[in-house]
Amino acid sequence: MASYLVTGGCGFIGSHLCVALLAGGHDVLVLDDLSTGHPDNLAPGAALMVGDIADCHVLHEAMAGVDGCFHLAAIASVERGVRDWTGTHRTNLSGTVAVFEAARRESEARGVSVPVVYASSAAVYGDPASLPAAETTPARPLSAYGADKLGCELHARAGGAVHGLHSVGLRFFNVFGPRQDPRSPYSGVVSIFCGRLARGEPLDIHGDGEQTRDFVHVADVVAALVAALRRAAPDAPVFNVCTGRATSVRDLAMLLGDAWGLTPTLRFGTPRAGEIRHSVGSRTDTAVQLGLADTMPLDRGLIDLSDWF
Ligand code: NAD
Repeated sequence: MASYLVTGGCGFIGSHLCVALLAGGHDVLVLDDLSTGHPDNLAPGAALMVGDIADCHVLHEAMAGVDGCFHLAAIASVERGVRDWTGTHRTNLSGTVAVFEAARRESEARGVSVPVVYASSAAVYGDPASLPAAETTPARPLSAYGADKLGCELHARAGGAVHGLHSVGLRFFNVFGPRQDPRSPYSGVVSIFCGRLARGEPLDIHGDGEQTRDFVHVADVVAALVAALRRAAPDAPVFNVCTGRATSVRDLAMLLGDAWGLTPTLRFGTPRAGEIRHSVGSRTDTAVQLGLADTMPLDRGLIDLSDWF
């Protein structure tokens, strides 16, 4: 059994990952500044260190003696990057470089490889010329958030070339599932819709609702994170984490209504400036390389969510 550091382990995806790692008999240390995460999300049996990933001293202490690191801490919002460009950059790129640096120092000190599995994002693609977006599709981010995530991938590659750092990046598409905070204005559309539907409120749609997304269940994301660990290497591979299925936001609202046996009221507003129109990923390489099973259908995941809201 192994011991892992999970940054952002009190957040949505990180908390699910910790449960899976602990169920596998591993030791888990969470490093989280609790800025958007909650102590209530801490998986029973995990240890918590409250601190900032951009603080090298904290990271050095957190990385000591671990067998690997899952790096999920970030300010996970395109909109926050618009409002606070330098602040989000500090966490999302400088913080990630600090994680890579701590893993490389720990690897060198112990003479072993301490691999890092880190969260990238579909935001690196921007508005791709062709869909579905595959890992070979040119990355042309249109947001500070996407640019920082692409920067993480470039630093991972540099870290491998210069220091022999072992890493693997996962480009998550639109993740949904239990524990995604519906109260946050920066949360995913699925959790916001669920929260509003549960309260009997109308579902707000920006624009005509025909914009599409690739909604992937958090259980499939956790399976990809765990499987990716053994693919960490100095050439810093990256994989999409998606379903390959595009769903419009309008269809999402109707599917949710069907799943919960309710009739949602849709309220259409002005389109969001700069919003990506269509996003769907290719899963071919990920499924083969990481040996993953089929992903959960969206309607099934939405039914399960009714227990949580
Ligand atoms: P989340 O906000 O629920 O979790 C992020 C966690 O990181 C929180 O617990 C937060 O407190 C912590 N954190 C933030 N800044 C920190 C700092 N400076 N130091 C220490 N901890 C810090 O977000 P999530 O949805 O679980 O996202 C996890 C990762 O996946 C992020 O890297 C995000 O960019 C990426 N991602 C998420 C999605 C999605 O749809 N949720 C899509 C693409 C990529």
